[in-house]
Amino acid sequence: MKRETGHVQSYTIAVLPGDGIGPEVIGEAVRVLAAVGERFGARFAVPQYPVGAAAVHATGTPLPPETRDAAGRADAVLLGAVGDPALDREPRERRPETGLLALRALLGVYANLRPVALHPVLAHASPLKPDRLAGIDLLIVRELTGGLYYGEPRGRQDGTAVNTLRYTVREVERVALTAFRAARSRRRRVLSVDKANVLETSQLWRETVTGVAQQFPDVSLEHGYVDTTAMRLVSEPAAIDVLVTENMFGDILSDEAAVLAGSLGMLPSASLGDGPGLFEPVHGSAPDIAGRDVANPIGAIATVALLLRHGLGLAEPAAAVEQAIATALEQGARTRDIARPSDRMMGTREMGEQIARLVRQPERSRRRRDRRRATPGVGDGRL
Ligand code: NAD
Repeated sequence: MKRETGHVQSYTIAVLPGDGIGPEVIGEAVRVLAAVGERFGARFAVPQYPVGAAAVHATGTPLPPETRDAAGRADAVLLGAVGDPALDREPRERRPETGLLALRALLGVYANLRPVALHPVLAHASPLKPDRLAGIDLLIVRELTGGLYYGEPRGRQDGTAVNTLRYTVREVERVALTAFRAARSRRRRVLSVDKANVLETSQLWRETVTGVAQQFPDVSLEHGYVDTTAMRLVSEPAAIDVLVTENMFGDILSDEAAVLAGSLGMLPSASLGDGPGLFEPVHGSAPDIAGRDVANPIGAIATVALLLRHGLGLAEPAAAVEQAIATALEQGARTRDIARPSDRMMGTREMGEQIARLVRQPERSRRRRDRRRATPGVGDGRL
């Protein structure tokens, strides 16, 4: 738990590296966290615990009791990714994803925040035309512990399958509050997404969000259907500020929005409830590239920024990490997924080391960048 020893704040972060590229990218995230500790005089204890396939292989279950206890006691939980195709045919209680769903339920993290922004130097990596890219900076707030993924009854019998979509007013209210509060530190616009022309749960969603909006007269509220919103995300993404929606719609729309940033490997997420938050990059375990030092660690490192801001309330260190990522990109740091053929590519570790260095020594890095900007022909490529 958070302690003050002398003037130094101490925090315990339960680190769950998980599977595939999880341990590689989390290694770099922890490296950057250590750099934050050095620069800002904080202490981060980072004990590690198994989850997902790694935990199934070690203990037979994807969320062992030791991991559950540690996650519940920590100030925040940092997770890599879970997933191993070799376990796809195992029964549900031995699947890595079951461990992740159980962890979310254990921590009661009902709001999933996914910021999506495109750094101008990476415009080439986005599939959208350049004229659609300027100003993309949106935040998806997805309800995470209700809806179809958790509803009972569920199951299969005699050629029939059932899942249940149920929401209560309380479940909608609390995630709507998260979205409106987040909008206050942004452009003060909320887009609530539902399918109220067809679904009763969506009608309850719409009424409840409209009610919550009364507490936020300074934030504008717009409602949109999920199908229309799927189109808007690619036709006018820059017009969206905060998008709030239910679990399954959010799952789909947030992956659609992820593509805008050029690579899944760039994106962080935070899952918040009333206890410790769960912080993880958006991508999965990427078994196709695991163990080769090619994974992009920026999603995991940007996740550290969200952990500092939303999990520990440390706004200045969070901004320092985000600035270090931006500076590294401006200096030309590229992993394979965001590189052009002519770029020098670096590995997972080198990218982590460069960003950690920039967190530790921002002044020296800034001077170097200013010199580069003063050199004719070396611009910052802004759109
Ligand atoms: P994925 O996100 O693992 O990979 C999709 C594609 O993106 C792959 O080509 C991969 O190489 C690439 N990619 C992902 N992260 C990258 C990074 N940091 N740097 C560079 N490239 C990156 O999704 P998938 O392939 O559909 O799933 C693989 C496994 O991960 C499955 O077992 C799935 O269930 C699991 N999964 C877990 C989570 C999670 O832990 N939250 C999320 C999604 C998928």
